[in-house]
Amino acid sequence: MDLSEILTHLGEDRGHGFDAVVPPIVQSGNFTYPTVAAMRAVVGNEFDRPLYTRGYNPTVAMVRKKIAALEHAEDALVFSSGSAAIAAAVIAFTKAGDHIVCVQKPYSWTRKLLAELLVRFGVEHTFVDGTDAENYRRAIKPNTSFFILESPNSLTFELQDIAAVCAIAKEHGITTLCDNSFNSPLFQSPILLGCDMIAHSATKYLNGHSDVVAGVLAGSHERMRRVMSKEFMTLGACPSPHDAWLLMRGLRTLPLRMERSADNAEKVARFLASHPKVKRVHWPGLDSHPQHSLAMKQMKRVAGLMSIELNAPDVAAVERFCDSLKRFLIAVSWGGYESLQWPVCALQASQPRSSGGPSGYYADLPFDMVRLYIGLEDADALIADLAQALERV
Ligand SMILES: *Cc1c(COP(=O)(O)O)cnc(C)c1O
Repeated sequence: MDLSEILTHLGEDRGHGFDAVVPPIVQSGNFTYPTVAAMRAVVGNEFDRPLYTRGYNPTVAMVRKKIAALEHAEDALVFSSGSAAIAAAVIAFTKAGDHIVCVQKPYSWTRKLLAELLVRFGVEHTFVDGTDAENYRRAIKPNTSFFILESPNSLTFELQDIAAVCAIAKEHGITTLCDNSFNSPLFQSPILLGCDMIAHSATKYLNGHSDVVAGVLAGSHERMRRVMSKEFMTLGACPSPHDAWLLMRGLRTLPLRMERSADNAEKVARFLASHPKVKRVHWPGLDSHPQHSLAMKQMKRVAGLMSIELNAPDVAAVERFCDSLKRFLIAVSWGGYESLQWPVCALQASQPRSSGGPSGYYADLPFDMVRLYIGLEDADALIADLAQALERV
């Protein structure tokens, strides 16, 4: 099925919605049956039948079909956040006494899931430098049951060779999950590289308008049924039908937005890489990135998120740069229409290192690092804005 059919038609079943072109939102929390026997047939089959909206909702189901098709997966689940999707997937496939191997510097709440939550339930973990796939193999113990990949990660942009890591996992009967948020389903397909499950923060590129927090998980029918029947239902992190509908609206323009963000990022990255006030640009699309050839091998294009390190003498100089930017809003998140900046020093100053707060996690990152998200604006305007702000460093 071609991309435009997935995004414009798949799963929409217009006959069930008054033949409206845009599917109506099924906001109902519960569903009725003509007979007791009809109800009995649905109880226990909530994976694909409506009973109660925490389990199955027809509007959410349309998005599930589209995500599964985009990720070359048999099925998908939609969650109320990306973190919920990741947590449900990890918890579903681990038990007390197991060991998880995860790439170092994953998304911060993925790290907390392992380091602060699952340790309380007797699940161990090791963070590895994923730039060498063999580090995953070296970390395997007799009780290793799960590998977490995030390629590239969204701060330092280190890649894992997905096919190599997943091949190691298969040899040892280990389940794999890849956070594919950076790439969207369009620029990288981890399932085709041998990965078992894919998670996305749909808050980012999939929705693309900075007005919904949501997550998705994709994989085989069997794995998705397993997650749905226990973790999805008990943790209850289901999306609202309205958010699912907004997410579907965002998906309509996914290819246009991805191409534009990537085109803009390429221009901005080249400008930054040649500027004397910029020490380093972390973006896998540049020839100078240490894993550029792996990026070209396993990714179709490189999306619009990058980090820079400034040639700045102190935090005040970084702040002058950031405060001077007019087109890059100071904010967390990314993947919307609007360009953003996220200075690492904003988190480093917020709490003492000993508190275990965000600064504990970000303390090993350079103070002069600023993450930039390149949105859909005019690239020349973004570059002009960066040029004037770099003069303040
Ligand atoms: C934002 C993000 C998440 C978490 O998603 P939420 O929707 O915020 O819960 C996970 N992974 C990556 C790479 C992210 O950027």
